[in-house]
Amino acid sequence: MNEHEVKILTDRLIPVPQELKFNDGNEFLLNEGCTVQIFVEDTAGVEQKTLESFRLFWGITPALAVAADAAAGKHGAEGYEIGISEKEITVKAAGMTGVMHALKTLRQLAEVQRGTERTQGYFLVPCTIKDFPAMAFRGVHICVFPETPLWDIERQIRIAAYHKFNYAVIETWGIFPFGSHPEFCWADMKLDKKELKKLVRLGKELGITLIPQFNLLGHATASRSITGKHAVLSYDPSLQPLFEPEGWTWCLTNPETRRILTDLVMELYEFYDCPPFFHIGCDEADNIGTCRDCRKKVLKDLVKEHICYFHDLFAQKGTRIIMWHDMLLTKGDERWNGYIVCGLPEHRLGELYKELPRDIIIADWQYGYPKADENAPEPQWPTTKFFKGEGFPVLVCPWLTQDGMKSLGNLAADEKLLGMLETTWHISHDRNFAHIFCTAAYASWNPAVNPGVTLATRLALAQHIRQLGWDTGVDEYIKTGWNQYQVDPGHHPHTNV
Ligand SMILES: [Zn+2]
Repeated sequence: MNEHEVKILTDRLIPVPQELKFNDGNEFLLNEGCTVQIFVEDTAGVEQKTLESFRLFWGITPALAVAADAAAGKHGAEGYEIGISEKEITVKAAGMTGVMHALKTLRQLAEVQRGTERTQGYFLVPCTIKDFPAMAFRGVHICVFPETPLWDIERQIRIAAYHKFNYAVIETWGIFPFGSHPEFCWADMKLDKKELKKLVRLGKELGITLIPQFNLLGHATASRSITGKHAVLSYDPSLQPLFEPEGWTWCLTNPETRRILTDLVMELYEFYDCPPFFHIGCDEADNIGTCRDCRKKVLKDLVKEHICYFHDLFAQKGTRIIMWHDMLLTKGDERWNGYIVCGLPEHRLGELYKELPRDIIIADWQYGYPKADENAPEPQWPTTKFFKGEGFPVLVCPWLTQDGMKSLGNLAADEKLLGMLETTWHISHDRNFAHIFCTAAYASWNPAVNPGVTLATRLALAQHIRQLGWDTGVDEYIKTGWNQYQVDPGHHPHTNV
């Protein structure tokens, strides 16, 4: 097989496997009764999942043999090997997770038979693949605004799982209708809990765990600051004592605040079926500690007690908290020049990290590509290295900058960090959708090979979105592709439709 053919086939795979070798020879035909052999250490669920997948992907039932093999998991819990010859497909993995990754790769690689009007079947070219992720945590951070339809969230979860992300942090912006305290949700903008619950279950089916987020420091408005909206106080002045007078941060000296926040986070945690992580936000708490009672206290002590309380609450349940990094570092400190930090000198929070438990996961969001000078090969990412050096598990969190995604992926792999959490905020559409679900997917699985968004990889993404649409029976114009509209797409997919 020549280089041109290898490139065509490799461009279909998002992410690109760690080792991929195409061989000459006849193709394997994905026909009824074709031979598939799977070797796994743990056979639980593998046969059923494989048969379901073959039916869904190619409309066939293979002659499937699943065998226990104590040596099959040498690439770790998520790794796998594939061998394709004219006669058979073999897959080796530790268990179900690795097999699911292998099946996703096979689907991306398979090509439809040629020469007929209608689809008659699919084939795979002979090859061998050895594959495993460069980091354990590969996440996307997805926001659900009052304007976001849940079908769009489902599409993002499906494509994230198809591109081998294994976590999705879900931040609902003032629209989760809490049973414990219904007033902490827009009265006229509630999401449908049954539909959201379906997504929690869908995530499990697809191999991507949904992690809830609730902001426990700033962003207490549950609304973008630039809009002046407040999900609670816009309608209800009676709840003002729970917030600092400006409404942006929670009042940390008021014991009622903690009581209510405990109810809210526990309700969310249980709704998401008690996942292993919970994201407590904590970014951009700019005017924290401004009320009469808070401003007389030592802010560092207030924040420390607040975070440690929620750390312990979740630790008792075996769950670890994730928090944004920015309030723990101080603006004006030369060590962070060019990098995002949000602590103000008057906050005096720069030493707070020393008093925090070291199992808190620091999510270091750095959205630029700040090289020291033009000739520097890469940014230094000093904030990430700092938290790692202080003993915290760290997630690198890029947003829209492709160079940043690539560089941070390499950093996470080289420094053996916990992983990457790609953020999306209100811009998970249009060209940026491809950056998020191509470039960040490459960066978090196999950052050494990251073609980014090219014409070829964008077309591969479009094919993947179509395949997922076939799975779910999409039949509405606005639900196809990744933009609702072709002309003047604006900031859709957010809409009230
Ligand atoms: Zn206060």
